[in-house]
Amino acid sequence: MPCVLLKHGEVFLRGRNRERFEERLRNNLRSALRGIGGSTWIQDARSVTVLGGQVPVEELVERAGKVIGFNSVHPAVRVPSTVDDITSAAVEALAALKAERPGITFAVRARRRDKSFPLTSSRFSAEVGSHIQRALGLPVNLTAPDVELSIEIDRHGSYLSWARHPGQGGLPVGSSGRALALLSGGYDSPVAAYRAMRRGLACDFVHFTGAPYTNASSVYKAYALARELNRYQPAGRLHIIALGRAQKQLAIAGAGKLQVVAQRRLMLRAAGALARDTRAAALVMGDSLGQVASQTLTNMATVDQAAELPVLRPLVGWDKQEIIDEAHRIGTAEISVLPDEDCCNLLAPERVSTRAHVPEVERVERRLEMDELIEELVRSAQCMRPGEEETQDGPAATVSLPAQQEAGRCTAS
Ligand code: ATP
Ligand code: MG
Repeated sequence: MPCVLLKHGEVFLRGRNRERFEERLRNNLRSALRGIGGSTWIQDARSVTVLGGQVPVEELVERAGKVIGFNSVHPAVRVPSTVDDITSAAVEALAALKAERPGITFAVRARRRDKSFPLTSSRFSAEVGSHIQRALGLPVNLTAPDVELSIEIDRHGSYLSWARHPGQGGLPVGSSGRALALLSGGYDSPVAAYRAMRRGLACDFVHFTGAPYTNASSVYKAYALARELNRYQPAGRLHIIALGRAQKQLAIAGAGKLQVVAQRRLMLRAAGALARDTRAAALVMGDSLGQVASQTLTNMATVDQAAELPVLRPLVGWDKQEIIDEAHRIGTAEISVLPDEDCCNLLAPERVSTRAHVPEVERVERRLEMDELIEELVRSAQCMRPGEEETQDGPAATVSLPAQQEAGRCTAS
């Protein structure tokens, strides 16, 4: 029976918290499988989760490969744990591979978790290997094989796999709490949100537009970005706040070259107020130290001074190219590159202060009714949940099988 093995990442290092972590990982997997269009089942063993169902394996691999907390994803077949069953499945698998690539070399690596299995791991590896050699005439290469056939032998079933896809790694989303990520249209902030998610933070998003002075293009982008990011976590919400009028008030108050830093402080205040509703314990931003004139240490400190919550900047030490490469890997780059009317370009001064100090920014801010302004911004926020339509529960949801049960007999229908 085809299935997928998901190797747990750092989860298993977590001692006593392990159970809690694994439960979260399982729930996140279940949520990633929603709407896949067929029944699926998951079953847990020590440091590995087995996933199967009436869905093509490639689709299971695609969905599970995005779930943060799994280190690697292995398409596999499950057979009864007998010497004959395993050996014939191994020959069958290699025969199929040989049909595609006639001259391949191979190695068999068996691991016996069930010590009642009649042969030791190395003895069994050798026997299966020579069986394949005799049946198919393929050469063994133990040091650098083209194909590594891995066999994991458990009491209740054995798994054969010969391909490995990298997983996301990291900690299960939610295991470190919730955060609110400030999402602009650029490359940086989506990558920052993803990196926060990789450390176990479930993220909601907030995007500020220049409305009514800019068009809706940046909202479409933020929506598309949040939808892409939600593939890696149980869907977070996206809040949209129109900042245009408040930006204009800052300009009229004479912000001048402090405009950008003053705007960021407004964003953090509004995000902080929003965070009370979303139960976020931190804000996430995409700045990288020195990347642009506004992202100096002085400016960051002045921006943070306006925030009630800790401001996390996962990309603070990243180079632009590293960020762009990661954006391509996680699938946000193609969206970030699209043109938009960004609120930050609205009323941007010709020269941005690289040393905006708190007292001078406060002097400008005192000309505004700050509390009312923030309250109004948050009250007018619009909320959506990007990607949810794709993960609606269809007719069949994922069932969990007890660890000791035969997966084959319990397939949900
Ligand atoms: P990005 O590539 O994420 O747009 P950037 O390099 O353009 O970042 P800035 O424009 O200086 O950097 O913004 C710094 C951070 O401030 C962003 O990474 C983001 O977290 C936040 N931010 C900026 N503009 C917005 C916005 N319109 N809505 C929400 N957050 C924003
Ligand atoms: Mg930007």
